Amino acid sequence: MPSESRMTQHLDPRSPWVISTHDLGKRPGTMRQMSLVLPAPADLGVDMIGVPKDAEVELDLRLEAVMEGVLVSGAARAPLAGECARCLDPVSSEIEVDLQELFFYSDEDASEEDSLLDGELLDLEPTFRDAVVLALPLSPVCREDCPGLCVECGVKLAEAGADHRHEKIDARWASLQGLITDTDNDQEK
Ligand SMILES: [Zn+2]
Ligand SMILES: [Zn+2]
Repeated sequence: MPSESRMTQHLDPRSPWVISTHDLGKRPGTMRQMSLVLPAPADLGVDMIGVPKDAEVELDLRLEAVMEGVLVSGAARAPLAGECARCLDPVSSEIEVDLQELFFYSDEDASEEDSLLDGELLDLEPTFRDAVVLALPLSPVCREDCPGLCVECGVKLAEAGADHRHEKIDARWASLQGLITDTDNDQEK
């Protein structure tokens, strides 16, 4: 390994997301398939939804030695947990992402953003993390037609029923039209 290598911190081979490429032996064309289940890393998600820490992530991977390094491709499936952006009920679902990353043997061939092998080890966690963050729903919902909360009183509209309303204006329409006022003006006008 060249002394000017930018990889200053070595990977921990005991970390679950650090994978050994030892069997590939740096011979281009050598390939290995693997299926494994790894614990989800912490803090993987956005405000409303994410992959719970230590949840089981199922991976189907293909490791292939190429000239410059090891190409990892495959798919990962993980559970998602969060809350509905409309009614704040808990939401649980699943996410499936494709993974593809070339891990370079040497930083001489790689650019700043590229991933490097640390000897025979590679760290798949950043690849998985990036793929999941890109694929997360921006506003998760408990169901497609979730009516959300009443803007007036905060009651859950799915439970309150379709005829839930305040005074004469249906709060949902009022909010859409920006008509909500605090006064008791004559609404027939
Ligand atoms: Zn909902
Ligand atoms: Zn209400």
